[in-house]
Amino acid sequence: MAASYRVKEIFYTLQGEGAQAGRPAVFCRFSKCNLWNGREDGRENAVCQFCDTDFIGTDGHLGGVYTASDLVNIISTQWPDLSQGTPYVVCTGGEPALQLDDELVTTLHKAGFEIAIETNGTLPLPDGIDWICLSPKAGAEVVIDRCDELKLVFPQPLAMPERFTGFNATHYYLQPMADYAPVVIASDKLSGAKQSLSATTTRKTLDYCLQHPQWKLSIQTHKLLEIE
Ligand code: SF4
Repeated sequence: MAASYRVKEIFYTLQGEGAQAGRPAVFCRFSKCNLWNGREDGRENAVCQFCDTDFIGTDGHLGGVYTASDLVNIISTQWPDLSQGTPYVVCTGGEPALQLDDELVTTLHKAGFEIAIETNGTLPLPDGIDWICLSPKAGAEVVIDRCDELKLVFPQPLAMPERFTGFNATHYYLQPMADYAPVVIASDKLSGAKQSLSATTTRKTLDYCLQHPQWKLSIQTHKLLEIE
């Protein structure tokens, strides 16, 4: 029987974060995560407690339950011109490693897509993924042994950067925890209130990068740009 994939939403936008920031990409958000059930009443007991993503169900834009070929067909229709650039799909979630498998990787490659995944690293990955973005979470053991970019949300008291300096990654990014960073930077620019910036998580994060230059600052530029 063919595998089926539960997808929350599919949309075309710019990657906003990390080393691929600014690159056009089709985002495929898979339903479900293994570190939180996605409901507010489950947040307190979740392994990952700061999530700001809705990954429950299949009710978002182009969400549904699909076979590999149907899913790749829909993803392909989102790319404006398959003859221009390298079509790029970002498998995100939730935790996409719960569902991304050999069949879907092969089918996406056959359609010409370069494949990225944004994963918490707690589950094994199928071979052939072109860009692995690992975002480790405090209290959750990482089982993958390499990635292209390690993007650590900062600060997480039980997952501070020192724990990951020896991890096999090409790029090391710190990303200020979401509730603070983009909003504060945007409002500071408008008001010129530089004073408040120093107290923010963003300031602490960029200070950490300046003191530990193995790490680069990742800002959620899609929030600054007010796009998806
Ligand atoms: S691991 Fe990622 S998707 Fe899962 S709850 Fe945490 S931030 Fe959300």
